Amino acid sequence: MKFTTIFLSAAKTGIKLAELPRIATNKTVYDRFMRLPVDENISLLTYVWIDGTGEFLRSKTRTHYNIPKTVEELPSWNYDGSSTYQAEGSNSDTYLSPVAIYKDPFLQGNNRLVLCDTYKHNKNPAGTNHRASCLDAMTKVKDQIPWFGMEQEYTILDRDMHPFGWPKNGCPEPQGPYYCGVGATKVFARDVVESHYRACLYAGLNICGTNAEVMPAQWEYQIGPSEGISMGDELWISRYILHRVAEEYGVVISLDPKPIPGDWNGAGCHVNFSTKAMRDENGIVEIEKAIERLSHHHMRHIKAYDPKEGKDNERRLTGKHETSSISDFSAGVANRGSSIRIPRSVADERKGYFEDRRPSSNCDPYRVTDVMVRTTLLGE
Ligand code: ADP
Ligand code: MN
Ligand code: MN
Ligand code: MN
Ligand code: MN
Repeated sequence: MKFTTIFLSAAKTGIKLAELPRIATNKTVYDRFMRLPVDENISLLTYVWIDGTGEFLRSKTRTHYNIPKTVEELPSWNYDGSSTYQAEGSNSDTYLSPVAIYKDPFLQGNNRLVLCDTYKHNKNPAGTNHRASCLDAMTKVKDQIPWFGMEQEYTILDRDMHPFGWPKNGCPEPQGPYYCGVGATKVFARDVVESHYRACLYAGLNICGTNAEVMPAQWEYQIGPSEGISMGDELWISRYILHRVAEEYGVVISLDPKPIPGDWNGAGCHVNFSTKAMRDENGIVEIEKAIERLSHHHMRHIKAYDPKEGKDNERRLTGKHETSSISDFSAGVANRGSSIRIPRSVADERKGYFEDRRPSSNCDPYRVTDVMVRTTLLGE
């Protein structure tokens, strides 16, 4: 068993992550401070944004002297973009523009999470701000009422970057017993999963399910159906909540699409898509039309489906482990080895939605839903 991939990512940070010890602070003391009364009109706003990697999130918090109801009433803010791979040190101010507001499951009460997109000093979208283009596409197709559902797979790691619950000097029994498994030798860290689920519900997200995955320590949750731009917003904030919940438990969330090389399933982020016409009687005709259009733009989609223009997905889309090959486009009913799958129930009812299985677990949902709409509905 090799851990090449995870050690590579550790090497990139320049820290010997394998040597990070297990740490724990005192949560009872924390609770005592958190019970200190504060002015009831104060709200702590945690602004959350995507950094220059296009993959990782950052956040910082400010005091707001009333309780906000809408995102429109929130001030813009800024941060040091030179510390997030988003600007030069000499011209580092980068702007945060609030786009969505959620109840904060960590601080609770009056406090809020504020999802933001990012703008350069000249007010153009920052390089990894793909929301601006996505919003443009969603506005153009608003009348078709596009719905998305995304299935976020992820792997729980220990702070030494080994999969959580795996033997430290090897690997568990081969895949088979773990998917939707029950019991202490089958699934690891269900408490992280359930805490995250509840925190997402508290925040007001459309989280619709969860399951243990084929590789042990790998899990999935689903968000949706969500309309238009809110798909990207909800998935990003659900990832933020996931990283924060894991932080509380002293474990790490990896969205790497193939965290363990070899005979272990990778992690994807399937996107399910429908329009009103697809959901109506005989919508299968519209579904087939969309798939036909997708078949002409395979590489364009592969480039949009991970943060490295397809490089990350090369390790995952091998044609094995319930994936299609990265170089071919394919579609089929109930086929989990194809790029596009039409669920059996949709084929039977001749209406509903279809699934694109290609997006990587670390994809940017704004890019995924943007290109989906541009190819299938806008004919671009
Ligand atoms: P599977 O694992 O079988 O591919 P899941 O149950 O994990 O499917 O996920 C199904 C996803 O499809 C969910 O995110 C759900 O919100 C989404 N979904 C269901 N109906 C629709 C629809 N009409 N349009 C778009 N997405 C949908
Ligand atoms: Mn400072
Ligand atoms: Mn699923
Ligand atoms: Mn899955
Ligand atoms: Mn799926």
